Amino acid sequence: MNSRAQEIAAALASVEVRITTAAVTAGRKRSELTLIAVTKTYPAGDVQILADLGVSNFGENRSDEGSEKSQLIAGTWHFQGQVQGRKLKDIASWATYIHSIDSGEHITKLSRICSEKGRKISIFLQFSLDGAPERGGVRADQLGQLADQVAADPNLHLAGLMCVPPVEYGFDRAFGEIAKVHSAFKMGFPDAVGLSAGMSSDFEVAIAYGATHLRVGSEILGSRAYHP
Ligand SMILES: *Cc1c(COP(=O)(O)O)cnc(C)c1O
Repeated sequence: MNSRAQEIAAALASVEVRITTAAVTAGRKRSELTLIAVTKTYPAGDVQILADLGVSNFGENRSDEGSEKSQLIAGTWHFQGQVQGRKLKDIASWATYIHSIDSGEHITKLSRICSEKGRKISIFLQFSLDGAPERGGVRADQLGQLADQVAADPNLHLAGLMCVPPVEYGFDRAFGEIAKVHSAFKMGFPDAVGLSAGMSSDFEVAIAYGATHLRVGSEILGSRAYHP
């Protein structure tokens, strides 16, 4: 192993220990949780190192970057960046999961694309606790309508919900509110129990509050030069 591989292996092992500990503390199983390594801004070589270490879920915020890396490294690829309608066709060519859908128009368009390509894409609907536009997401009271649309669509699979909480809420308030929205949602959509929440700074809290899909970048690969 070269030194970069050793560095990544050590960071990944440490994140894995923290995930398992948080799961046990919460009375949950590691097997209920999916770790998505967010590889945005990092080179394909780093993704290859992760793949060699057994990581199989990768997340990207930009379609061109995801497309390039997913052609080089096999795995399950996730898109979690802000969705632009004109990019949906590109995104759908490499991503199996999209975590950041927050518009009925995009759902309609994605369905058409999936139908043309004979693909099925899994959707996490993104919601927002405070309605601030920069993080994306609909208000919780709009989730039902979007979920009905996805659930009724044969080209799409409704995986669950995604949220990026506002920093100023603090972890417990933010994840408490997220968990409340999630449990109400699961009553209406019992087949869509996923909760994509938890990043480098808060994945242990997210696990305590019921997250199923953790999107962790910098704790595994180091801090990024820029944040797209
Ligand atoms: C960049 C990003 C992540 C990963 O962030 P880290 O803090 O590096 O773990 C997760 N989710 C989204 C939506 C992101 O943009």
